[in-house]
Amino acid sequence: MTLRRRLLVGVAALAVVLAVAGAAVVVAQRAYLVERLDAQLAALARNPRAILLASARAESGTPAAGLSDVYVGRMGADGRLVTVLAPAGDPALVPSLAAGERVLTPAGRSTLAGESRRVRVVTAELPNGRAQAVLALPTTPVDLATRRLVLTLGLVGFVVAGVLGLLLWWVDRLGLRPVAQMTEAADAIRAGDTTRRVPPGPPGTEVARLAAAFNALVDSSAATNERMRRFVADASHELRTPLTTLQGYVALHTGRTGSGPDDARRPAVDPPHAGPEVADALRRIGAEAARMRRLVDGLLDLARLDEAGAGAGAGVGGAGAGGKGGGLRREPVDLAAVVRDVAADLRVVAPDRAVSVEGEGPLVALVDRDLVTQALVGLTSNAVRHTSPGTPVRLALRHDATHALLEVADDGPGIPPEHLPHVFERFHRVDRGRASSTGGTGLGLALVEAVARAHGGTATVRSEPGRGATFTVLLPLGPH
Ligand code: ADP
Repeated sequence: MTLRRRLLVGVAALAVVLAVAGAAVVVAQRAYLVERLDAQLAALARNPRAILLASARAESGTPAAGLSDVYVGRMGADGRLVTVLAPAGDPALVPSLAAGERVLTPAGRSTLAGESRRVRVVTAELPNGRAQAVLALPTTPVDLATRRLVLTLGLVGFVVAGVLGLLLWWVDRLGLRPVAQMTEAADAIRAGDTTRRVPPGPPGTEVARLAAAFNALVDSSAATNERMRRFVADASHELRTPLTTLQGYVALHTGRTGSGPDDARRPAVDPPHAGPEVADALRRIGAEAARMRRLVDGLLDLARLDEAGAGAGAGVGGAGAGGKGGGLRREPVDLAAVVRDVAADLRVVAPDRAVSVEGEGPLVALVDRDLVTQALVGLTSNAVRHTSPGTPVRLALRHDATHALLEVADDGPGIPPEHLPHVFERFHRVDRGRASSTGGTGLGLALVEAVARAHGGTATVRSEPGRGATFTVLLPLGPH
């Protein structure tokens, strides 16, 4: 349960407890007041004759001390009730009693006449035994006192509720709302919006200190990431020169660079004065140097895309930041033409494959043409390298109002479900043993994903083992 909900539940429980306590106080107070009326009546009922006499005197003009609020009546043997003395405040009062009814302990009754609605009544046998005195006290003062108590408690409750509400609002504003905002910002940062920071929070509160500490943590993590990215970029860059030299020497002695699709078609030249073993070693050095070159290039591309992705934030990358230099070089690009070009290249590189294209153009999007082409080539080359010869490759281009969907599908062996969540990770391979035989680097899909992310899009895969794989790159059509 969230802290906010707990607080609400706590306050609601407190309100219920207060309401119940208030009700209990009202009931107890009323019972106490009624008890006092009853005690008064019981005291009077102990000497009914004297009361009747005093009342009769009061009626004839002599004031009867202590009887001003009491109703005194006489009920004869015929059961008729005759008023002897009515309370000063309610001269018309007549309690409702059945003919000849006896009420030995004080009890509540309604009234037949008068302003008061209810009375406490007691009857007392007169010494002659043929009649009885009826004594009654209106409960109006009790009702009034109870009403006033209810009103006071209601008012206090209202004030307490207001103070509690204010307290809740205060706690929410100082503690809970900033935490919710921090959580939202932290989620956004985790989702890739690396420029986002959490709001500073109300000054002088724990939340403000937490926000400052969190932002410092994110800053330091971003700085570490940046240092790592720069290191990888620099290292890759530095490695290119010796690799180029290595490939140059290999090419000099074998006639092959070890890379490129047309390389295999070039006649191999055995190095002069070298045995077949040396020639073979040189060829393998060439092939591995080429693979290392692809790895280094892939790492460099990823480092640059990471930078572009960080700059692009949630996908609003600045145009013209220098392409390979870091940011994306966005321009209006007809994606249909890109798909057609990649398909045409694929038909040349892999003539044994039936390559189909679905989706008519033009579909113009504001993207980096080179990067999108690179991502598509990566996907088609995977579809060729990870399926058996002759397996068809299908390219498709779809779109809705805001996004374009680039799809590359094949009917190859597919990807086991346990690998699906990881295939876009760097250096993740389904079959590690086959890495060198397919010439893969393990960076191809990571690059595809980085391209999509740098554009504010996504890369996903659907696959069932034995039923092929479908890779989808979703790209926003443009910042607008
Ligand atoms: P690699 O350079 O090894 O191809 P990728 O990042 O391009 O690295 O791909 C990661 C892994 O995903 C590959 O090693 C391969 O096992 C699997 N994979 C990629 N594309 C396909 C595909 N079309 N069909 C089957 N498996 C694939």
